[in-house]
This record gives sequence, structure tokens and C-alpha cells, in this order.
Amino acid sequence: MGLTVQKFGGSSVADAERIMRAAGRAVKAKRAGNNVIVIVSARGDLTDELIDLAKQVSEDPPRREMDMLLSTGEQQSVALMAMAVHTLGEDAISFAGAQIGIVTDSFHTKAKIRNIDPTRIIEALDQGKIVIVAGFQGVDENFNITTLGRGGSDTTAVALASVLKADVCEIYTDVDGVYTADPRRVSDARKIARISYDEMLELAALGAQVMQARSIEFAKRYGVTIHVRSSFNDNEGTYIVREAPEMEDIVVSGVALSKNEAKVTIRAVPDKPGVAATIMGRFAASGVNVDMIVQNTSADGITDMSFTVDRSELPHARKVAQSLLADLGGTGVESAEDIAKLSIVGIGMRSHTGVAEKMFAALAAVDVNINMISTSEIKLSVIIDAKYADEALAAVHAAFELNKPPA
Ligand code: ADP
Ligand code: ASP
Ligand code: MG
Repeated sequence: MGLTVQKFGGSSVADAERIMRAAGRAVKAKRAGNNVIVIVSARGDLTDELIDLAKQVSEDPPRREMDMLLSTGEQQSVALMAMAVHTLGEDAISFAGAQIGIVTDSFHTKAKIRNIDPTRIIEALDQGKIVIVAGFQGVDENFNITTLGRGGSDTTAVALASVLKADVCEIYTDVDGVYTADPRRVSDARKIARISYDEMLELAALGAQVMQARSIEFAKRYGVTIHVRSSFNDNEGTYIVREAPEMEDIVVSGVALSKNEAKVTIRAVPDKPGVAATIMGRFAASGVNVDMIVQNTSADGITDMSFTVDRSELPHARKVAQSLLADLGGTGVESAEDIAKLSIVGIGMRSHTGVAEKMFAALAAVDVNINMISTSEIKLSVIIDAKYADEALAAVHAAFELNKPPA
């Protein structure tokens, strides 16, 4: 008997009608002779609403309580989904993360899965039930409820697919698959039929919200095939798979945009060995992830250090930067939130030249200035002013002719 894992995102379970439709898919897979595990997200924008509510009662909500609150969204969905399956005439049982031993570390709001105990799921499947699991949540070793970071239901789904050795992990969402750019921002973006783990991992990490980056790390490590597709039609979506040789022929597979960045500058720090290490060490110790780093050319032994951080971490990052001033002797801390990160991704970039030039020329042609640049083997990112983000995205997408199928 095959095992099907289906994950339904927030918009796919937003209301009763959509829950019934999602339940219908699970029932269909079951009646086709499969064991079925369904992972669900919180309905619609419920997670955002809960975050807003928390901020109304607390400037900086304790993270443990945040997890207690946010996990309720998924708990509603599993119960409703199980009821819907019953309505359609099949047996189902819902589980919160803690009930099936999804054990995580204790990093509240960004916890990582350490272990999953499949016993209870297997028992329920053996009894012929469709198993409905709350995405995005787990429990630490002291039984505190944790959550896995925004978009974390994807990771729950991939982790369960890997532990239970599912044939494929189906991710049902509100677009037809993974596109060459966010189809809501670029009207001629094209659906990609197959994409490698490494490219999807970069796209996700660089802002393509359609999959949580950590779910792709998991999928790559355990070889889980992912099929991203729409919950509103039966079209084939995008398969996320191991790299195949012909994939290198495509230079750029996709463009991602992130508006979740902020820039911090520490002014006039001494330009001498050890300063960068001190700054980064302090940030790492404070749990702030630093992304791009730029050190300006120095004059008179003094330089400015700029770096980008996640926008949600800006208040914290500013405090850490302030605390460094006294030790390093800088003159001040500045920050900016009106920036965006635009990136191109493709494993073909390893073996093709002229890629950076093409991207920069496309940006120049629409008069967009580049503030920071960073590259790795398969990606190239630039920081630009947020107000030009959409125009720049369209220009770069067009320059690489991503609207056309690869030759
Ligand atoms: P779900 O609630 O199903 O998890 P998400 O909102 O997390 O859905 O992710 C789906 C959204 O991701 C789409 O509506 C789309 O706007 C956005 N997105 C961003 N980049 C891409 C891309 N390259 N391909 C497809 N969708 C993308
Ligand atoms: N509900 C959570 C979120 O909105 C998890 C998820 O949807 O994957 O981030
Ligand atoms: Mg999502």
C-alpha cells in the first residue's frame, strides 16, 4: 500500500468550503488504496492575526507564550479537517505535534525538529484512519509547545514524509507550482516543471515564500520528492528533486525578492584586525543572523561597517550594535528598513560567465542603484531601494528571458 502525504497551506483551508475540498482530496487518495497523512496550516491569515493581537498586549511578547498562542491556529484546522473527512464517510484522527512526539529544540518561534516518533501515526494508519497532523508545531523535551518558524508546516510535512518513507510529499497551495518569480508580482512568470533542491533552497531562503527553506534542507538530506501544486485544480505542479545533469544548461532558474531585510551601519570604527570578528561575534552570541556585510574603504584608519539582518530582528540588532560602540569606539549606529534584496538563482551559474553583468545591466537600464552585492556559487543578490523593487524584479526577469520555456 502506498503512502501519500498531503500538506494544505492556510489559503487552502481558509473556510468551510475549502476545508471540505481539501478533505475530498485526502479521501480520494485513501479510496485509491493509499495510506494518507494530511498536514494542515492555520486557516487563512490567522497566524498573522494572532501575531497582531499579541503585539497589542505586549511590545516584545515572551517567545514561549507566542508559541502557545500561534500553535492554536493549526489545532483548529486539524479538528475541522478530521470532521470534514468524517462527513465524507472516511475515518480520521487529528493530532497536535506533541501528541505524535514531534520533539524540537527549545528555540521558541524558530525551533528545529530533533525527532519524530511515528508509532501513533502508524497505529492509526493501520486502523484505516486518515491521519491529520497540525503543521508548524512541536514540543521540546520539557513539554513546552514550540513552533518551527513562519511557513513551518512545509517542514512538518517533509519531515513526516521522510520518517514514514512516503512516495511523494504533496504541497497544496494557492499557486500552480514554483514559478520563475512570484506570479503575484511578475505577470509573465512561468511555472517550472522540475527544480533541484539546491535551487529551491536558495529561492526559498532569498524570499520565495512558496516553500519554507528548512523543509528543502530536510528533503535534500533524506531524498524526499516534493510536488508543489494548487489545491484549486488538478494541474501538474512543480517537482523538487535531486539535481539532474541537464539542469545545468539553464543559467538562471528563478528570481526572488525579499522585503524582509533591514540594514544596520556602525559608523567610524577602527580599521584594524579583529574588529569585524568582534562585531560578528557579538551578533552571533546575541542570536542575530547577519546576512550581507560590507566594509567601506577606510580613511585615516577609520571605516564604516554595514550589514543586513532580518527586519523583525532590527530592534534587537540595533541594541547589539549600540552595545558595541563603547567597546570599539565607533561614532554611531544607523539603520534603514526601506531596502529590498533581489536575487537570481541557478545551478547553471556555476558553469556560465557574464551572468552578473547581465543582471547589473538590466538594473542600470531601469536606473536602479545597487547598494550591496553578494554572490555564491549558484546565486547573486543585490540590495536596492525598496521603492524600485518590483520594477527591478520585472527588469531582471525579462533580461534572463525567464518568461520563455528553456531551450
Ligand atoms: P501556503 O499558505 O499554501 O503555505 P504561502 O503563502 O506560504 O502558501 O506560499 C504561496 C505563495 O508564495 C504564493 O501565493 C506566491 O505569491 C508566493 N511566491 C513567492 N515566490 C514564488 C514563486 N517563485 N513561485 C510560486 N509562488 C511564489
Ligand atoms: N501558520 C504558520 C504560518 O503562517 C505555518 C504555515 O502556514 O506553514 O507561518
Ligand atoms: Mg507557506
